Amino acid sequence: MRIRSIEEINKKIENGDVTVLTAEEVSSLVCEGNSPKTEDVDVVTTGTCGIMSGTAAILHVPVADPGAFKKAKNILLNGIPGFPGPCPNEWLGSVDLIIYGTAHSIYDSNYGGGFLFNDIVSGKEIDIELESTDGKIFKTTTNIKDFGTTKMIGTRLAFKNYNSFTNPSDKLVSSIFHAIDMEGPFKGLSVSGCGQLNPLQNDPLMEVICSGSKILLNGSEGIVIGSGTRSSNEKPNLMLTADMKDMNSHYLGGFKTGAGPEIFDSVAAAIPILDQNILEQTFIMNKDITLPVADIRGRHKILGSTNYGEVWDGCDERPVYHPTDCLNCKTCIVHERCPTGAYTDTLNVQKCFGCGMCAYSCPNNAFTMESGCVRFKLDDKFIEMPIICRQSDIKRARELTSELKRKIENGNFILNNCLK
Ligand code: SF4
Ligand code: SF4
Repeated sequence: MRIRSIEEINKKIENGDVTVLTAEEVSSLVCEGNSPKTEDVDVVTTGTCGIMSGTAAILHVPVADPGAFKKAKNILLNGIPGFPGPCPNEWLGSVDLIIYGTAHSIYDSNYGGGFLFNDIVSGKEIDIELESTDGKIFKTTTNIKDFGTTKMIGTRLAFKNYNSFTNPSDKLVSSIFHAIDMEGPFKGLSVSGCGQLNPLQNDPLMEVICSGSKILLNGSEGIVIGSGTRSSNEKPNLMLTADMKDMNSHYLGGFKTGAGPEIFDSVAAAIPILDQNILEQTFIMNKDITLPVADIRGRHKILGSTNYGEVWDGCDERPVYHPTDCLNCKTCIVHERCPTGAYTDTLNVQKCFGCGMCAYSCPNNAFTMESGCVRFKLDDKFIEMPIICRQSDIKRARELTSELKRKIENGNFILNNCLK
């Protein structure tokens, strides 16, 4: 039975007397033996951050003076191919285009759409190269202030957690599901998903996070368009959009994988507590959320399972760098492998994703990080292995979830009523 409406919650937000908890705060209360009631909380904020391949940008960019070319045939942004159109923009000198977060630079194999979108949102100058339909080449440099449209669209984001992956074979396997070609057999696990904080883990049937709901996408206030591609009751995900001009570059970026650069995004969603059932769905705890372990070769064969308690409970958000243990190797394997470029000669904590590849890779333990270990049964044998790569960032997810909580408390985020 509904005990309050979204309009009543919005009134409380406007009056500054709304009670907001993050999903982790709710889980902690439950873990301590409490049983929160609907009168104790009006809104629960949730969030996730991880590799989200279904990300694209719809842009309108200035290239040349009006009349300089009839139509664009090909376009590159920092060397990354976009798709001109669908509008032809005849003789305007500017171009509508769609560009993928998963696209790769034709000049630099380590640079892709995720890094480009971070550069765009950061306000950096972007190199544009255009070939017109009559074969002329135009080059210019511009930045987001001069772009017309800067919409990000996510075709399948914020999925309800995910599979983890290991390599049972002794051959290297190249995949987007690991930061480097994955070694085997059973050398370690690559994981995704933010467990109990994940939006759709707290609203698995999309009862209140639904088409029309407001969300934060990379810090920008956006909206849920509907279910994402391949969304199912078992594995739901969201289609989202928001304006890149309002995004915070901290929350999105590039992440190198064994199969080339990918993109990471951060999403936060609010769950209005309309009844006890909606509240109780947020009681979920990491240890109760199953994390299937799949074979990275082909990715569909499930070998066993673990849970998100093994991934996040008691584990470090970030590595610790010990400069005195660094041997200044001629070739630094950490520098080569760090997926976000956070380590050059020093650790750039702002760029760090907490993936753990540095702690796994450095031969002299110049990086240390507690990132968990899993144990599961396979053919009557127990397999135990460390988590060596986290493709989700619990720190950014927590930051955005708390940011949404503050916005609601401060009256800066009013909920949409889009319930059927
Ligand atoms: S591999 Fe480790 S010890 Fe060697 S330079 Fe890199 S961080 Fe230092
Ligand atoms: S955890 Fe280590 S490898 Fe991963 S992003 Fe941070 S510095 Fe780079």
